[in-house]
Amino acid sequence: MLYGQVITAIHGSRGGDIIFSSRYSNGTWASICRCVNMIHSSNLIQPSLMHIKLGNSSLTSFWYDPWIDGTPLALKFPRLLALEDNKFDTVADRHPNGSWLWFWRRDPRGGIELSNFNSLLDILAMTSLSNNVDTWTWDGDSSCGNSVAAARRLIDLHSIAPFSCPTNWLSLYPSKVNIFIWRLRMNRLATKDNLERKGIDLPNYLCVWCNVQNESVHHVFVSCVISKQIWSYLGSWINFNLPSWNNLEELWIWMDNLSVHEKKKIVVRSIFYSVLWNIWRLRNSYVFNDPTFRISHVLDNIIVTSFFFGFFLDTKNLGLIGPFGCKIL
Ligand SMILES: [Zn+2]
Repeated sequence: MLYGQVITAIHGSRGGDIIFSSRYSNGTWASICRCVNMIHSSNLIQPSLMHIKLGNSSLTSFWYDPWIDGTPLALKFPRLLALEDNKFDTVADRHPNGSWLWFWRRDPRGGIELSNFNSLLDILAMTSLSNNVDTWTWDGDSSCGNSVAAARRLIDLHSIAPFSCPTNWLSLYPSKVNIFIWRLRMNRLATKDNLERKGIDLPNYLCVWCNVQNESVHHVFVSCVISKQIWSYLGSWINFNLPSWNNLEELWIWMDNLSVHEKKKIVVRSIFYSVLWNIWRLRNSYVFNDPTFRISHVLDNIIVTSFFFGFFLDTKNLGLIGPFGCKIL
């Protein structure tokens, strides 16, 4: 692979050695290595899941690959590594003629160094090499074997907080809208209160519309005078008296528990997604001083969305009617 050739050209045939090295602190490859180290050190993917099936050892790093008991010798014997002159030798380099070679900066002295060296010799005495090529295996996912998808599942499993609410992905909407809703439901939008929690200094933390209340998702999307005006407009348009929600949780509960046919529910959810998306666009247009998107655009978009989804999913049996006197609920 071309990328592999580039890495090899820059970092040598064993580019992975710097995973355990501090020699490189900048650059793409160093960032990749830091990321790998983080994945291992935080146990998102435990190094012990990966094993080398030792063959002739020509591809296996003596100090840095976990070829014995799943732990690299560099981690097991750091005092000996500090004495090593040829840190990046392969196992085959160190075992050319049936006996082990050592390249110490100075010989291990008594105490811990000598004790570690004797332990290392005991371990190596139980190791046998063959003429096959070294191969890697891992226990991450027995069904998929070694794959990016399996690794990602493991990382997701340990890094993404469990989320009990359904995501309700709407395939009719572009991904950016669905992802926006997903982030909104987890309170992961860059509202001012969330930025403050992350320690980001802003001139103020007030709502850009009313300048009275602090900005939070609940305020922006349901309780500010502007968002209340937008929801009221929606209620008039679909000819339904929407409740007045105090926070987003109440809105989600109301939307998720509507006692209507499933297809009607999809229509309602589609229109609500559009309203929420357009409220956020309106908020951003104020924050970033963009005069091209104002409340009239939000109202226009609500009409378009109602029109589209009202007709797209309309059936005679459901009695869904389009815009201009539409009655969707
Ligand atoms: Zn406000």
